[in-house]
Amino acid sequence: MSAATPDETPDLRALTLDEAQALAVSLGLPRFRGEQAWRWVHGKGATSWDEMTNIGADVRARLAAGARIGTLTLAEVQRSRDGTKKLRFTTRDGYSIESVLIPDGDKTTQCISSQVGCAVDCQFCATAKLGLTRNLDPGEIADQVYRARALLAAEEPDRRITNLVYMGMGEPLHNYDNVMRSLRILTSDLGVGLSQRRITVSTAGMVPRLEKLGAEDVRPNLAVSLNASNDRVRDEIMPINRKWNIGKLLAALRSYPLEHRRRVTFEYVLLAGVNDALADAAELAKLLRGFRCKVNIIPWNPHPEAPYERPSPGAIEAFQNECKRLGLPTYLRTPRGDDIDAACGQLANRSNGELLVPLRKRPVKAPALD
Ligand code: SF4
Repeated sequence: MSAATPDETPDLRALTLDEAQALAVSLGLPRFRGEQAWRWVHGKGATSWDEMTNIGADVRARLAAGARIGTLTLAEVQRSRDGTKKLRFTTRDGYSIESVLIPDGDKTTQCISSQVGCAVDCQFCATAKLGLTRNLDPGEIADQVYRARALLAAEEPDRRITNLVYMGMGEPLHNYDNVMRSLRILTSDLGVGLSQRRITVSTAGMVPRLEKLGAEDVRPNLAVSLNASNDRVRDEIMPINRKWNIGKLLAALRSYPLEHRRRVTFEYVLLAGVNDALADAAELAKLLRGFRCKVNIIPWNPHPEAPYERPSPGAIEAFQNECKRLGLPTYLRTPRGDDIDAACGQLANRSNGELLVPLRKRPVKAPALD
């Protein structure tokens, strides 16, 4: 049996459990049939109706008439010498997105994408140069996890995805509704049941959406891509700062309802000669004084699309030591998968060093972000 239904047919992957149950009812079936099908797709990663062996063929046929099961196609797996795997998926309409599996001892973190490309235009990021093509739907976001889980089951059966970070291609809060739906799907106990404490959403600082996120019942950990200690530098490397500057961003974060023992992670991509001076470290420590936070220092991962340089090991160490001396908790992020262009800021659909799609010619300097 196949779900050869028209494009407008709902994708079971993109539905929340409630919606799947309502769909079953709309097809003249009991609610629990919707739940059964939903569990197959989201809990067991089923990609076809035929796999749903506890649902009779007649019921499957009725479900298939009202819904399809979309899946991403795993087009390529690139393997780093450090164990990191970069997965390239193609969507139903032919676009490429990337996701990264990062093993670390017993843990495995998956970095997933939320958009095809990105509109935010951070100057140090390879994804920015793709521009934004479209949002991923909730099923496409969640399916990256299901396809990665299937790959691990085949290659490393003892390994499980333990942590999830929305730090791949795209600005998650720019695709707010779909990201929220994917979070509800991925945290459901009837699906993969990931704890929201093990999920991190990273934003470049879409302030109104941060305020909205703070009011949600599902609230993942929050990471903020800060990268500068003043507006002059942040305006230059992150055009989004011209719309929501550091003052507005920190004000929104101050009123963000952080739960007990949780803290905001600030990411700080260290760029030689741009934001890596000891004075920058001092300014950063002053800026974040009193915040429940930590700072992840990410020495820039080189790619040909940006004119920056990674600071020397000595400069990196000096920057971190200065932050620590001034009381700011900082952690140095070791690049993972940089030999396969899978490290932070390098995702651009590149295979063996070659770009699969041409970069847009003129980057958008002022992204239309609401
Ligand atoms: S760093 Fe993130 S938000 Fe900025 S351009 Fe890259 S993908 Fe978009």
